[in-house]
Order: sequence, then C-alpha cells, then structure tokens
Amino acid sequence: KQTEPLKPSHRKVQLPKEVEELARVVGKICQELGFKGYLVGGVVRDILMGRRIWDLDFVVEGDGIKVAERFAQHYRVNVHPFPEFGTAHLKVGDFKIEFATTRRETYPHPGAYPVVEPASLKEDLFRRDFTINAMAISVMEEDFGTLIDYFGGLRDLKDKLIRILHPLSFVEDPVRILRALRFAGRFDFKLSKSTEKAMLNALSMHLLKQASRGRLLKELTLAFREEKLLDILKLYRQYKVLEELIDGFQWSQDLELKLEKLKEVVSWHKIEFPDKKLEYGWLYLVILLEKVKGEEFLRDMSAPAWVRELYRTYKEQAKEVIRKLHQAKKPSEVYLTLKGFSEPFYLLLAIEESLRPKIVLYMEKLSKLKVDVSRFSGLKGKELGKAIENEKLRLMDETFTLT
Ligand code: ATP
Repeated sequence: KQTEPLKPSHRKVQLPKEVEELARVVGKICQELGFKGYLVGGVVRDILMGRRIWDLDFVVEGDGIKVAERFAQHYRVNVHPFPEFGTAHLKVGDFKIEFATTRRETYPHPGAYPVVEPASLKEDLFRRDFTINAMAISVMEEDFGTLIDYFGGLRDLKDKLIRILHPLSFVEDPVRILRALRFAGRFDFKLSKSTEKAMLNALSMHLLKQASRGRLLKELTLAFREEKLLDILKLYRQYKVLEELIDGFQWSQDLELKLEKLKEVVSWHKIEFPDKKLEYGWLYLVILLEKVKGEEFLRDMSAPAWVRELYRTYKEQAKEVIRKLHQAKKPSEVYLTLKGFSEPFYLLLAIEESLRPKIVLYMEKLSKLKVDVSRFSGLKGKELGKAIENEKLRLMDETFTLT
C-alpha cells in the first residue's frame, strides 16, 4: 500500500558519448512514433557508478519492437524481435541493445516465469528487483538525460545498499535472493536491514527449493562468472543458500580454505597466462562439489564437457596424483606424474601450497621442453617417440632442480 504518491526525483545524468549518440536516435524515433523512450535497469545503475557499459536496455511506453525495427533500419543492422515478450534485440558495434515495451509482471506462484502485460514506466520500474536496478533515464529530446528515480535508487547507490521494492519481493521471485547476493558481492554493497529480514524469511520458507530450477541455476551460473565470486560465495555461506540448492552440500572450514587458496592460484594464473581466458568460476564449483555427488548438478548447470571431465578426474585421481607429486624427487618424476592431465586440473592441484613449485615448474618449463630431434635421424615411429621422451627426461633432470 502506498502512503504517498510516488514522485520521481529529477536530475540530469551525463551519458557516455557513444551511449548518448545511440540514445538520442532512440529518442528521435520515439518522438516520431508518439512514444516515450527510456534507458532502464542495470545500465542506469552502471552509468551512475561510472562503469563501462556494453548492454543497453531501452523501454518504450508504446511499442518497443516498432522502435527497435526503426532503430535497426537507421543503423542498417539485423533485429531479432520476440513478439510474445514484446522485446527485440540487436547489436550496434560492440553494444548489445534490447528494446522492450514497458510492462507489468505477475508471478502465478513463487519463482515461476512471470505473466507479462503492457503498463506504464512506473509499473515497469516497480516490477524490478532492487532500487539500484529500478531507475530510468529519459532519452526524449525535451528532457534528455533526466534520471527517473521513484524508489530512492540513487540514495541506495550512494549508501551502497541493496534494497527490494516491496516486502514480498523475494517470495514473489526467490531468484532475487541469488541476485541480491551477487550484486552485494560484486559491488561490495550490504543488504538493507529490511531486505535482509525479508531474505531470511524467504529462506526459512525454503522458497529456493520451490522456484524454477532452470531460472535459479541460470542465475547461479552468472554468479560463477563474477570477478568477485569468492565474496559472493561467502555471502552464500552466510545465508546458507547452497544448502538449499545442492543436495547434501555442507560448508566446512576446509572447504572455505580451499576456495581461498584457489583464488590465489587463479590470480597467479591470470597474470602468468593472460591469454588463456579460462572460465575460472567452474573451478570453484568443482571444489564446492567435491564432497557431494555433483554430476547431476553440473549437468543441470549446463556445465561444459571439460568441466564435467575435470570434476570426474579430480574426484577419481587427485588424491593419488597429489601423493605421487609429494614423493617426486626429480623433475622427470614430476613430469611423468602430471603429463596428460588438463591445465584446469593442475590449477586445482596447486590449491595445495606445498605442491605449487612442482606444478609451476611443470607448467612453465617441463611441459614446454623441446629436444633436438636431428640426433635421432635413424629412428622412426614409436622408437623415435621413445628416444625423444627419454632424452627429454634426461635433459629436464640435468637442467632443473626441485626446490
Ligand atoms: P548485470 O550487470 O549482471 O548484467 P543487470 O542489472 O543488467 O545486471 P539483467 O539480468 O541484465 O541485470 O537484468 C536487467 C534488469 O532487469 C535488472 O537491472 C532489473 O531491473 C531487471 N531484472 C532482472 N531480473 C529480475 C528479477 N528476477 N526480478 C525483477 N527484476 C529483474
């Protein structure tokens, strides 16, 4: 129940230059069609935070798809309309742009896919998850750049707070629990007092178990792509979120420590091998699932084949490989122990600090060692391979020492 009418605050926002150019075109098209257009949601938050932007979301009071089609003509790009949702996607340069008709959403039951109907901008903003994600910027010529903030999003942004728009928000859509913790971790924000209370309430009702698993796991996958994943996982621990999502899952000090160590390994790897572009989040998931039967969970998460393979190898072979590595006295023994496994597997092994020098030696030196094959000109096939391998082993023991 609203005690006083919602009044938006008005202040001008400076858009980044390329965004401004695109937004002015949207404004012009809206004007021609007799509609109103706005930038909305995460992009507004990111502009206010001064972050780089690649995804632009526009909403239109009118017909979003029509505006998208004219916009696509203007830039001579393809447009992908989804009439059942009233949305359309397109790309201009590096910008991924979505157009939508302003809409209201109702959830038939907690966590279900929402039922959608056209509505005003205010209602469109009110259906959103958090105040910081529920602001708009007008792109119409007469008030271009005006921030529309009905719910105190700008204040919460300044106070570094995640705040839901109404007390039943998490009940309506429990996926927002995961979103709240993802944004809190990403930006180092806190939940507002009432938001935390509402979240604890929704968790105590085990609503995460009832929400659409597909939506939850999609959201979880996004979290595993975040730079500050470890901070997000700490919040998951604090609010006992994974216990709700993964059968048999339990936190332990050992697990937390392993994740911290994995973060060190990942930081090292990013610096040493900047071109590798590994999706490190999956490594954290493999560790989280170490003590449970995680195969099904990985499948539900649509984990790529290499992750499922890594999980199997880690569970079946890591102990033995670690034992052998501890025992290895010569570089060649390190080489023979580690040869044939994948790079992500090495990173998981490097969680154990005392093994790192051997693993680093293998990754940086032993695995790259080349020998002069001209010396074996008389040999062919298997014999040649064997001779090269023996020469390699000899050479590595001669060249490198284990510290
Ligand atoms: P990111 O920076 O991770 O892309 P985003 O805020 O842009 O975050 P999206 O998932 O792209 O997030 O969603 C765009 C906007 O849609 C959000 O800013 C929010 O306003 C709204 N939104 C997304 N998911 C929900 C949800 N489950 N409930 C309510 N509103 C949502």
